[in-house]
Amino acid sequence: MSAIIIDGNAIAKVVRAKWKERVVRLREEGVQPGLAVLIVGSDPASQIYVRRKVKACEDLGIHSERHEFSATAAEEEVLDRILQLNVDPAIHGILVQLPLPAHFRSRRLLEAIAIEKDVDGFNLYNVGALVAGDTIFPPCTPYGVQCILEYSRIPISGQNVVVVGASNIVGKPMAMLLMRQEATVAICHLKTRDLAQFTILADILVVAAGKPNLITAPMVKTGAVVIDVGINRMPNGRLVGDVDFDAVARKASYITPVPGGVGPMTVTMLLVNTIKSAERIAKVDIARESA
Ligand code: NAP
Repeated sequence: MSAIIIDGNAIAKVVRAKWKERVVRLREEGVQPGLAVLIVGSDPASQIYVRRKVKACEDLGIHSERHEFSATAAEEEVLDRILQLNVDPAIHGILVQLPLPAHFRSRRLLEAIAIEKDVDGFNLYNVGALVAGDTIFPPCTPYGVQCILEYSRIPISGQNVVVVGASNIVGKPMAMLLMRQEATVAICHLKTRDLAQFTILADILVVAAGKPNLITAPMVKTGAVVIDVGINRMPNGRLVGDVDFDAVARKASYITPVPGGVGPMTVTMLLVNTIKSAERIAKVDIARESA
């Protein structure tokens, strides 16, 4: 068997084109969706991610603002900016680029973001809503994976899904989203004994551990769908995922490459969440005006 290689860039292009039309409609109604990105310090990877997000906003006609703070900034300074953005009518989405420098309490900052502008979906309200099956803003990376599966017409209901990685950003919300779509989900982490005994059962295997070559061909069921979320920079500068791509591609039915798989979808879903937020806030404003 040779897997179909899922082209995340191509799917992202289709999704962005569809949502661009909604931006055009909003702008005709006098609303320009707006995203504020807060970045603290000069972590090179974070700088690249933020640049990509801002550029993607420009391409779709979304207003974007970059709020930069030095690594030595006080937490209160960032907190104050979040509170200002919470009431700024030009801003519909606020995100704090993670990771933050060690002296910051990330949770405190994430909790300060207004629930209706929490386009990353990390505020506890949105986390709880995701668990209850009713979230407004699914976290962008798992939401991107869900979108990839939908566009590739891969059935989810009744499938055995194994998620390798249990972070708050990827693994846990991924499991919740797919469970909501009636999959049977197992979550594995660093302390999972004999990872392969779980992965081999997966009809859909989502890997987000940040460990190159963690998943090898014998660990994968023939015909499985393999979604590689991992991004690892090798000593030679090459980017790879968590999956031994060449060997697993010979056994799987579908596989995402790294780069060019999940990555482009993460930024795309951030745009989608920001546009949705602008639509929601515009609706609330109209309802208020006509009350
Ligand atoms: P993280 O916070 O470091 O979490 C990694 C998770 O993987 C943890 O739950 C950890 O288990 C688990 N893990 C680590 N080694 C393992 C092993 N040998 N076997 C089983 N589980 C193991 O990382 P993250 O933020 O979730 O990101 C994961 C990867 O996805 C990284 O490579 C990151 O760069 C990438 N990523 C990509 C995108 C994208 O857009 N493509 C977006 C976000 C993240 P414990 O909980 O037990 O420690």
